[in-house]
Amino acid sequence: MMNSIPYVICYICGRKYGSASIKIHEPQCLKKWQSDNAALPPEQRRKTPVKPVERALPTSGQKISRSEWEASNEGAWKSAQAQLVPCPHCGRTFLPDRLQVHLRSCKPKH
Ligand SMILES: [Zn+2]
Ligand SMILES: [Zn+2]
Repeated sequence: MMNSIPYVICYICGRKYGSASIKIHEPQCLKKWQSDNAALPPEQRRKTPVKPVERALPTSGQKISRSEWEASNEGAWKSAQAQLVPCPHCGRTFLPDRLQVHLRSCKPKH
């Protein structure tokens, strides 16, 4: 039996991927993040997400414990959360492109 790792969380977008597809996804996700970020108004631009140090993707044959795995995913999740921007009206957090959509329906209360 191989390592039964259920999923890996992308540290950029916070979505779940298989341990094989994350390696393909991460560089693509970072590229997309960079072009999305460059398209934002300067005050909404974010710092480039940093790959969490806890990240320990198993290479083939390498064993990783469940707790190490969970710590890795938790670090990635936190990093992805830090990418979210709060709505100035209601305080809920969104990805910048989602926030633009949300702002059309969320108006300041008077
Ligand atoms: Zn991603
Ligand atoms: Zn709102």
